Amino acid sequence: MPELLRIAGLTAGYGDVQVLWGIDLDVREGEIVAIVGSNGAGKTTLLRTISGLVGARAGSILFEGREISKAGPDEVLAAGIAHVPEGRRLFKGLSVKDNLLLGAYLRRDKAEIQNDLDYVFDLFPRLKERHSQDATTMSGGEQQMCAIARGIMSRPRLLMIDELSLGLAPALIERLSEGLKAINGNGLTILLVEQDVMTAFELASRAFVVETGRIAKAGETVVLADDPAIRQAYLGV
Ligand code: ATP
Repeated sequence: MPELLRIAGLTAGYGDVQVLWGIDLDVREGEIVAIVGSNGAGKTTLLRTISGLVGARAGSILFEGREISKAGPDEVLAAGIAHVPEGRRLFKGLSVKDNLLLGAYLRRDKAEIQNDLDYVFDLFPRLKERHSQDATTMSGGEQQMCAIARGIMSRPRLLMIDELSLGLAPALIERLSEGLKAINGNGLTILLVEQDVMTAFELASRAFVVETGRIAKAGETVVLADDPAIRQAYLGV
């Protein structure tokens, strides 16, 4: 599969605090790739740096061969990367449908937007049932569906999701995982930050393990799941 994203030697941080120390990571078209690691390792910062929300200090981020490490958030979105942030960040006072339409705000192909609304409603029927409800009054799992669907509404080439399962019941995580597999089956590449390593390994074909701002290990999830150090540190066995 052709390469979609290639990150090399990426460093980033906040003020005097450096968080990322030379990250190398790649995502190929059609993959689901996970980024795992403990609290504070820098996973969120990595996604925010790819999105242009945090400035890259050194290194490169190539997306479809194009350097985007200096691009701002709108430019990164327009290039084809959608970011579903931790905590979902839906707009209060706006309906589910209006939140979804905001995901498409950069698009000019208005006729296609309705088709994509139908697509995400098929994917997550609950959102269709609740389309007129204030999105922020839904359950955590429903809000996560809405946030993912909003990401899809931008028609990205890469969907990045921060903390898919945080605070959600197992049955809901299962539903979301099924949704993501279906989306991926339709051709969308997914880069996922996930606290729960079991969930991450079940969904993704490859994973990168981040420890204190560096990639400590990377590889196929079936191999990582058998790695004694990973099992001890992250799977509690
Ligand atoms: P978690 O899963 O707990 O969010 P993480 O791996 O996503 O962890 P980050 O949120 O990227 O980690 O945080 C990495 C480090 O950067 C932490 O030490 C954190 O305190 C620091 N940090 C994050 N955001 C800021 C900020 N806005 N200003 C200063 N430091 C920050």
